[in-house]
Amino acid sequence: MNVVVLVGGVGGARFLLGVKAALGLPAVGPGSGDHEVTAVVNVGDDIWLHGLRICPDLDTCMYTLGGGIDPERGWGRAGETWAVRDELAAYEADPTWFGLGDRDIATHLVRTRMLRAGYPLSQVTEALCHRWQPGVRLLPVTDDRVETHVVIGDPDDDTAGPGDRPLKAIHFQEWWVRHQAKPAPHRFASVGADEAGVLPEVREAIEGADAILVAPSNPVVSIGTMIQVPGMAQALVAAEAKIVGLSPIVGGRPLRGMADACLEAIGVETTAEAVGRHYGGRREGGLLDGWLVHTGDTADVPGADVLSVPLLMTDVDATAEMARRALELAGVEVG
Ligand code: GDP
Ligand code: CA
Repeated sequence: MNVVVLVGGVGGARFLLGVKAALGLPAVGPGSGDHEVTAVVNVGDDIWLHGLRICPDLDTCMYTLGGGIDPERGWGRAGETWAVRDELAAYEADPTWFGLGDRDIATHLVRTRMLRAGYPLSQVTEALCHRWQPGVRLLPVTDDRVETHVVIGDPDDDTAGPGDRPLKAIHFQEWWVRHQAKPAPHRFASVGADEAGVLPEVREAIEGADAILVAPSNPVVSIGTMIQVPGMAQALVAAEAKIVGLSPIVGGRPLRGMADACLEAIGVETTAEAVGRHYGGRREGGLLDGWLVHTGDTADVPGADVLSVPLLMTDVDATAEMARRALELAGVEVG
């Protein structure tokens, strides 16, 4: 069976662990070949820092599935040290708000060298995965540079009142990490999306899928960014497989992170129903054939089948059960 999963970073990576378990794939290392999982990964958070190309969502998926993740933080390498970050800070080398760990930097060095040699991001990712053996095919949604920027009132400009500061677009990472998503976004901009194109392998995976799952990832800056890449929405509309999403919003709140700030910016309420309606039911021209919400939440999403099941990724077993329910709703048999 071919399963395609649309994912961002931490939420997406954890969900992929459950998908692998549900399909009986080993936790680490290559699978049996009966089932193939293709993860289509967001690149909107990617950024150049200190001359290095950083791909946070791809790396979070790669480290999580390859057993190298820091389990407490949910991102970055286990056993990380920070000597380079401290040395950079001693030079006051900007930006100082984004800490790169020593182990992690090796990944960025290999990636950057390959990109500079002319390899596309998808091939670079494949090369990095030779080491990590994530057991799923990790595909960036595009090889092109598409970076999420956030338009905010300039927090460094004190000449105006909080309501009428001059507008400024900053990289998503600066808003998320440096400003903790506090300055209210006027809007998000996907820089480069106009000239980008969905990766051909992503289109083919969607075409050949038996089921397509939308992980409980950030609906705006993880999933939303990917759907905006030209060719992605068309590929999903044309897919023969059913598309089932899982709500990242439980009891009116995101579970980790600040997805509520993103939803507010695009005028979507922080509820499982509002996010489901934002994606839209497929029978009404939207994305979803099915929408899973957490036990106790309800949702009416015209054009989609809605089911309430436990959606807390507390451990791999619970997450595997979520994946099983999603695959069932997508109409495929999990052996
Ligand atoms: P990021 O790129 O690292 O921010 O990660 P993602 O976009 O993939 O996922 C972030 C989303 O995961 C957040 O909006 C959370 O609400 C959601 N999330 C995290 N843990 C859980 C969980 O246990 N259950 C559900 N349903 N959603 C979760
Ligand atoms: Ca992310």
